[in-house]
Amino acid sequence: MMAETPDYRPETLAVRAGQQRSQFGEHSEALYLTSSFVFPSAAAAAKRFSGEEEGNVYARFTNPTVTMFEERLAALEGAEDCVATASGMAAIMAAILAHLKQGDHIVASNSLFGATVQLFNNILSRTGITTTFVSHTDPAAWAAAIRPETKLFFLETPSNPLTEIADIRKLVEIAHAKGILVAVDNCFCTPILQRPLDMGADLVIHSATKFLDGQGRVLGGAVCGPKKLTEEVFKYLRTAGPTLSAFNAWVLLKGLETLKLRVEAQSANALQLAQWLEAHPKVARVFYPGLPSHPQHELAKTQQKSGGAIVAFEVKGAREQAWQVVDNCRLLSITANLGDTKTTITHPASTTHGRISPEARAAAGINEGLLRIAVGLEAVEDLQADLERGLSLI
Ligand SMILES: *Cc1c(COP(=O)(O)O)cnc(C)c1O
Repeated sequence: MMAETPDYRPETLAVRAGQQRSQFGEHSEALYLTSSFVFPSAAAAAKRFSGEEEGNVYARFTNPTVTMFEERLAALEGAEDCVATASGMAAIMAAILAHLKQGDHIVASNSLFGATVQLFNNILSRTGITTTFVSHTDPAAWAAAIRPETKLFFLETPSNPLTEIADIRKLVEIAHAKGILVAVDNCFCTPILQRPLDMGADLVIHSATKFLDGQGRVLGGAVCGPKKLTEEVFKYLRTAGPTLSAFNAWVLLKGLETLKLRVEAQSANALQLAQWLEAHPKVARVFYPGLPSHPQHELAKTQQKSGGAIVAFEVKGAREQAWQVVDNCRLLSITANLGDTKTTITHPASTTHGRISPEARAAAGINEGLLRIAVGLEAVEDLQADLERGLSLI
C-alpha cells in the first residue's frame, strides 16, 4: 500500500504505514498469534518453502503482525526494508553476524551502550571478529583505526549518558571511501528526530524497547536499510531464531502511532528541564545537545531536529550528593531504563557504568556527581519540584 504513496508525512506514516487488513476488515491491526501457516496443497507448500511463491510459512521466518511493524518502521526511517528482532541486542548481533565473519574488524565508538561493548568484547571476539574502540567525537581517530580487514563502523549518537554527538556524515564519508559499512544505533533520537540513512548510513539499528514502544511494556529491536543488506539479516534470523514475537510487534505497532507526539513532547520537556538545571546554583554542569552550551550544539542541529529526551547533569559534589538527589525523588523512577513516558533517573557511575574501573570512568567523563534523566511526559514543573527536594539539601 505505502509503496504507491511514498510522500506521506511522518505523522501519517506512523498511524497508517504497513497495515494489512484481513478478510474481516478490522480497523485496528490484527494480532496473529500463530506459530505456523497452512497451505492449500502439497504443491503450494513446496512453492512457499522454496521461496518460489511469497507468503508466510513459520513465525520464525515471518508473521503478518511482525511484517506490519517492520513496514511501518521502515517507512518512518526512510528505509527500503526493515527486519524486526526480539530485542535491541538481538538486532545488533543479527546485523553484525549477517555481514561479518571470522577475521573481520569493527571500528566502534568508545561510548556505546554497555551491553554492546560486552557483546563486542566478550562474545563477538570469540568468533574471531575484533573491535577497536575510538573517540566518539574524533573522526580522525576512526580513520586511523581502519585496517585492511575493517568491515564496519558502529556508532550511536547522542551518546549515553553524556550526549556527545558523533558526526554521522563525516564518518560515512571516511568509511565509504574504504568500502566500509556504517551502522547507527538510532535508539536515542528515533526517526522522528534523526534519520541516519538520509545522511548516508547503511544500516539503522533500534532497541524498540525504548522510545518505539515508549511505554515500558515489551522488548524488541529492528535493523533497517536497503534490501540487499537486510536480506542477509533476515537469513540470519530465520535460521538463528531471535525473531520478534507477534504480540510484541502488535504492542510496538501501537507505540509507533504516538511516536512523534511523544518524542517531540518529551524533547520539549527535556529542553525546559535542561535550561532550569543549567541555571540551578547546585548544578555544576548540564549535558544536553539542545543547549547552546553543549560543545557540539551546532553539529547536533545539522543532524537531529531537537535535543532529544535525555539530559545529564553534574551536581556540585560527588556520589553522596548525587544519591541525595535520587533518594529524594518521589515522582521520578529510579531505574536505568529510558524512552518511557515516565521520567527516569539514574546514577551512571554506580549502575550502568559501575563495572568499569574508576580510572576508565573518569577518562570517559563519567564523574561521581553525574546523574542522567530520561524525560517523560509529566509536567516539567512537577519534575523540577521533585529534583529540587534533593538539590536544596546540597
Ligand atoms: C537499550 C539499548 C540497547 C539494547 O536494547 P535491548 O532492547 O535492551 O536489547 C541498545 N542500544 C541502546 C542505545 C540502548 O539504549
